[in-house]
Amino acid sequence: MKLVESIILIMESVEVNCDSESNKLFIGRPNFDDEFISTATSIAQEKVEKNVKAVLLNHLDELPNLRKSLHIEYLLGSLKNLPSSYEVMDSSRTWTVYWVLHSLALLQYDVDPNLKLAIINFLKSCQHVEGGFGGGPFQEPHLAPTYAAVNALCILGTEDAYNVIDRRGLLNFLRRMKVGDGSFYMHEDGEIDLRSVYCCIAVYSVVNLRDKELFANSLDWVSRCQTYEGGFAGSPGMEAHGGYTFCGVASLYLLGKLEKCDLKSLRRWILNRQTAFEGGFQGRTNKLVDSCYSFWQYGSLEVLNYASNVQGCSYKQNCAHNRLIDNDLLQEYLLICCQHISGGFIDKPTTSHDPYHTCYSLSGLSLAQQYCLTEEKHSGDLADIHPVFNLPMNLYHKADLYFKET
Ligand SMILES: [Zn+2]
Repeated sequence: MKLVESIILIMESVEVNCDSESNKLFIGRPNFDDEFISTATSIAQEKVEKNVKAVLLNHLDELPNLRKSLHIEYLLGSLKNLPSSYEVMDSSRTWTVYWVLHSLALLQYDVDPNLKLAIINFLKSCQHVEGGFGGGPFQEPHLAPTYAAVNALCILGTEDAYNVIDRRGLLNFLRRMKVGDGSFYMHEDGEIDLRSVYCCIAVYSVVNLRDKELFANSLDWVSRCQTYEGGFAGSPGMEAHGGYTFCGVASLYLLGKLEKCDLKSLRRWILNRQTAFEGGFQGRTNKLVDSCYSFWQYGSLEVLNYASNVQGCSYKQNCAHNRLIDNDLLQEYLLICCQHISGGFIDKPTTSHDPYHTCYSLSGLSLAQQYCLTEEKHSGDLADIHPVFNLPMNLYHKADLYFKET
């Protein structure tokens, strides 16, 4: 048997545990087995399981609530301290604004109009005169902060916010980033990977731009990023990764041809990234659990589900996946192990909180609660998200309507 076939068979045999009775406590959860070969990876995995078990032992009987007010306080603090306390994040300031605003919207918190105005002015100062947004004021335009800024303005959801976006300049910027083979540069002479295709097509779609030639060859380039494992890599020939998988799947959806990739192996790879003991998702095969992949992995599956609902699809058997993710176990991981004592979410026990992990933990939690079978764990605490753009569903529709009419 070829090596690749053996690996796939092993992966298929490690199905996610769906027995809800055994998920109530950590007892019965399968521990990692190093099969008597200790490696740096196996030691790290055992350490994580030990830390997770220690936290679970304090929550044997109940699932803690989502600590909404504490998270809101932490998020508002992150926003207000943005200029002084995040010097090392100077090129990610537009991102931080998106992570915080999206988290607050998911928590159904209304941002004060004065703060909204200040954020609008800040994002305006990050827009380049020739189109696109930089990571901070007066920085070169870059596709990642452009995606973050456009999403943040859609979440602010006012006409003033929408009108910040120079759509003609944005289209020119996207055209300048185009590479002939269907891929895109992240910025002038920058790196090329799946993030750029996704960021480009996401903002293009949200603000309703039109250029038939912009995505010529992109369908082929994106589908070449799918690996033998089933997930997508950053570029053809690299390793499958949760973040790139989301970018690949969402791009194929927006390009109108999800079936261009192997949906069966994609679904199998993602489902097997939910860790059996911890309950959260890992980003790559044999890597450690990390709360942010609650969105990147689950969100990828949710794009398939969304496509089957809105478009109808000929691959329905590959879309009906929600019941195969253990939503209870995922919520236990996020609510018990990842809520920081001072608000915000952490990657895994013993790490610290940050707006990025808060945003993607809440996004994953929103999906888990949406599809949870156990009534008491569907708290309805969080707003629903549009999985393709990772925007609150209602704010996506509002922006979509505005940009289609103007
Ligand atoms: Zn992470």
